[in-house]
Amino acid sequence: MNIHEYQAKALLRSYGAPVSDGRVVLRADEAKTAASALEGPLWVVKAQIHAGGRGKGHFKEAEAGEKGGVRLACSVEEAAAMAHQMLGRTLVTHQTGPAGKQVNRIYIEDGSDIAKEFYLALLIDRKTSRISVVCSTEGGMDIEEVAAHTPEKILTFSIDPATGYQGFHGRRVAFALGLTGKAVGKCVDLLQKLYTMFVEKDAEMVEINPLILMPNGDLKCLDAKVGFDNNALFRHADILALRDETEEDPKELAASKFDLNYIALDGEIGCMVNGAGLAMATMDIIKLYGAEPANFLDVGGGATKEKVTEAFKIITSDPNVKGILVNIFGGIMRCDIIAEGVLAAVKEVGLKVPLVVRLEGTNVELGKEIIKTSGLNVIAADNLSDAAQKIVKAVKG
Ligand code: GDP
Ligand code: MG
Repeated sequence: MNIHEYQAKALLRSYGAPVSDGRVVLRADEAKTAASALEGPLWVVKAQIHAGGRGKGHFKEAEAGEKGGVRLACSVEEAAAMAHQMLGRTLVTHQTGPAGKQVNRIYIEDGSDIAKEFYLALLIDRKTSRISVVCSTEGGMDIEEVAAHTPEKILTFSIDPATGYQGFHGRRVAFALGLTGKAVGKCVDLLQKLYTMFVEKDAEMVEINPLILMPNGDLKCLDAKVGFDNNALFRHADILALRDETEEDPKELAASKFDLNYIALDGEIGCMVNGAGLAMATMDIIKLYGAEPANFLDVGGGATKEKVTEAFKIITSDPNVKGILVNIFGGIMRCDIIAEGVLAAVKEVGLKVPLVVRLEGTNVELGKEIIKTSGLNVIAADNLSDAAQKIVKAVKG
């Protein structure tokens, strides 16, 4: 789960990490009060969406010369006018894709003087099963660009969980960033706080880009992107409360409400499968026969008729879906339950695209019988390969 920049900064502040003072604005008429509460003489007006690259992004239907989603203002009035102008509009950045994201929240911050911009992140490194530190002198810009063109400017190392964070980790970062004097100690202190927050909150990523050095030698987190491990959210009610559902794919959101493991993809064949391994194999074999899956969907071992119906509804709500493949192995799950779920779903939402069903396992004969006698236009398949070929043929001709 990801959170907004202003929420991430509140969390950083609670761990004592240096961030600017700021106010969040949900309605345009709050903007002036929010900006007035800050000292000035510089204000930063920042669109809050779960995507980076806002500064270099652009709004849809922008006027000629209009700036992106991060703007500097020199007065309360100017800051309020900018917030007014951004709220409700769609911001397109390299991370949102061409559709962009609607801006429903604005963060107005006290502007900072910048001497240098750095990149600093903590991430889970799945290879070493440790928390990795990534830092670079090339801050404020796309780290992917830096990695592609000047990888030598990125320092990466991991922290041994047996020792946890140690001062030398922080000094390593400070020296890599070229810090001197009191800034070194501040860096050691900041990294300690970030690491503690990362571990205590079960984060997956804490990215500060840019981390800035100010002319007075202080460090500050000027931007913050924080993501959490969904599997640990059950023990962090405070983090879960920060969830902004409007930022999530509506199909994935609906799926999460019914405890379905669903991930939207770009292809044309909707898949309903039980078991993550079988779902992966189903996606692979669809590709093998020349088509692309529209989603990953694992309905789970103990799915009910209601769950299957919801899964079906989510798949059919995707306009890219040109055909559906149901591939169920009835181990814990009975095939007749699946068959009934599929029929109930088809009756409820209609079936406008070809549907191939492959059932195997407990009560398979009963399941096949239910589908056969339903009078619905369902293509039966005997095995995985047969099923994949049939749905690809039905979709591609
Ligand atoms: P992003 O574009 O979504 O990554 O948004 P950031 O929060 O990183 O802001 C983009 C850029 O705006 C930063 O790299 C800075 O150069 C600039 N910026 C952001 N906040 C301030 C500020 O307080 N003062 C100044 N001078 N520039 C800022
Ligand atoms: Mg940034």
